[in-house]
Amino acid sequence: MLRIETRLGSHIHLPKPSLTSKTINYRMEHGLPLIRFDELDLDWSLLHETFVEVTDLFSKYPELFGLIPEELKELEPSRFLTRETVKAWFEGAKLPPAVVVNEAREGLLENIIHATFKPFLVSYSKTLLSLVNQEQWRRRYCPICGGNPDFAYLDEERGARWLLCSRCDAEWLFQRLQCPHCGTQNQNDLSYFTDDEGIYRLYVCEQCKRYLKAIDLQRTKSEVLLPLERLYTIDMDRQARERGYSPYGKATKP
Ligand SMILES: [Zn+2]
Ligand SMILES: [Zn+2]
Repeated sequence: MLRIETRLGSHIHLPKPSLTSKTINYRMEHGLPLIRFDELDLDWSLLHETFVEVTDLFSKYPELFGLIPEELKELEPSRFLTRETVKAWFEGAKLPPAVVVNEAREGLLENIIHATFKPFLVSYSKTLLSLVNQEQWRRRYCPICGGNPDFAYLDEERGARWLLCSRCDAEWLFQRLQCPHCGTQNQNDLSYFTDDEGIYRLYVCEQCKRYLKAIDLQRTKSEVLLPLERLYTIDMDRQARERGYSPYGKATKP
């Protein structure tokens, strides 16, 4: 996946930030992410190529991702990955019924769209992140794309907590004592587990039963690549699930 992302990175032409400072201020103040789907300038043929690549990759690891429906492999990507489907995914709405063959597969389809779309959102995020007023935002969703966080870190300077977007890798400042999923600030519901060296933390919330993995940069000795830390800490996901918590990154379906 990372290989696909890196290679694509050089093919995606960086979007020119065409937002005026007035628009940026308005969106920041009203809790609106900087990217709106209709303003994205998407290279659809590159998206469709990526979609085929991602689907191929997923189908090689059914034990990790689940079985890819045959009809998805045979379908023309342009018929599946339509503007309507991607928009629904981007806005966190239900996928159009035409692409959801059955409910159980909806999660898998969302994962495929996520993986396909991520390199594109990452390139936007790189150009736009410096426009975010971090002290002002501090919300539970990403200031760039509106996605949920799936990782966090405590910064080196003052131990402040930053969240990492599951969709575009943007980082944003967030309260240490608040659950980014349900928003509770009730201290009795918030706690964390830590490893022996105190480098990693597993934040958990009793209110919504979600968890969030984090790394403390005040305690790390070498340079850290945050997007990779998600993968290095896969064992923490297992431990969290065993304790009965679900991840933040995705909406859980009962
Ligand atoms: Zn984002
Ligand atoms: Zn919570």
